[in-house]
Amino acid sequence: MALIVKKFGGSSVATPEKIFNIVNRVLRDKQPDDRIVVVVSAMGDTTDDLVRLAKEVTSMPYGREMDRLLSTGEQVTIALMALAFQAKGHAAVSMTGEQAGIATSDTFGKARILDIEPKRVLDALEAGNIVVVAGFQGMTEAGDITTLGRGGSDTTAVALAGAMKADVCEIFTDVDGVYSTDPRVAPGAVKLKEITYGEMLEMARLGAGVMQPRAVEMGHRYGVPIHVRSTFSDEEGTIIREEYTMKANQYAITGVADDTNVAKVSLVGVENVPGVAHQVFQALANKSIDVDMIVQSIRTTDDKRTDIVFTITRDDVNLAKQVLEELGQSMSIEECVINENMAKVSIIGAGMLGQPGVAAKMFGILSDEGVNIEIISTSEISISCLIGEEHIKTAVRAIHDKLILDGRG
Ligand code: ASP
Ligand code: MG
Repeated sequence: MALIVKKFGGSSVATPEKIFNIVNRVLRDKQPDDRIVVVVSAMGDTTDDLVRLAKEVTSMPYGREMDRLLSTGEQVTIALMALAFQAKGHAAVSMTGEQAGIATSDTFGKARILDIEPKRVLDALEAGNIVVVAGFQGMTEAGDITTLGRGGSDTTAVALAGAMKADVCEIFTDVDGVYSTDPRVAPGAVKLKEITYGEMLEMARLGAGVMQPRAVEMGHRYGVPIHVRSTFSDEEGTIIREEYTMKANQYAITGVADDTNVAKVSLVGVENVPGVAHQVFQALANKSIDVDMIVQSIRTTDDKRTDIVFTITRDDVNLAKQVLEELGQSMSIEECVINENMAKVSIIGAGMLGQPGVAAKMFGILSDEGVNIEIISTSEISISCLIGEEHIKTAVRAIHDKLILDGRG
């Protein structure tokens, strides 16, 4: 007997036929006493369509009302899927995030799961149902609907799996696993059999679209193995877990990620005195704007002013403009420039720790391709470069093929 959480993303549930295919597959694979929870996303491009709709009535599509709007997408899918299970003769119930016991913070648009009390889910399973849960949503203490950030259904699935101590969380998607990079960009990309939570977290954080970073974090926290696999085939995908089970699966560099949802903000000529950086980043934090790469540079040794450059996601650009304009009234900033045509290319690998010279190789490849690097940042297991968006595909392909494919011989 196994308790399994299966998550199906938007493209896997885009049409009634696709929903039926999933229902058939779940019923086919289910052992008689397996308990199955299915977490789903909104159908196809529904969430994007809802965002577009909101943008037709406001330039500020954020906050409580936006979450109410976006959370409707998943509710359509759960109802249809539960009906489809019933039509196939299997008992099923659908549940919203709230009904599944998902309590979140009140940071609308990117709420964090604070607690899960899946009592209703467990009771419904006990009564013989397949339970279909709406991904991407939860509820604040005050009773307001929240959403977990784009791609948040993964987080729902993994967190629920953790809270219920499920045996595995299967993430079904339109790719058949986690690849060393996006195969659409670099045709030589290879499918990874295994990857650690740490590496996957870096891959996701740095833009690999396969999974939402918070989902990986949840898997790590609860120690739930995550199996990323294809909706359309029975082949094994990639298992995300604590450690490699086979040494042969670990290389110096595991993957190359790219992120084009990046904007560069340059605060030119701010006063070079204590407290300025704090003031800037606190103001952004107050609006829950995630800041990524940060550089503060010295102009000349006796200059009383400095430049602060950092990156944010493009979705936050309007909000950031507002925050920085307000800030400009209380502190002196000579100029604020926002460039939205930027992208970030990163290499990731736990094996990089013991291997000097990896950074030099990466920069060398970019230089051979004539790509200028605007900002560099590193973590223990990754190196990222901010470059012009127009170079991103070339950069990913060149870095992947020269660093990963050559490394594997
Ligand atoms: N429907 C939401 C989105 O598109 C959540 C998800 O698909 O995971 O971001
Ligand atoms: Mg998704």
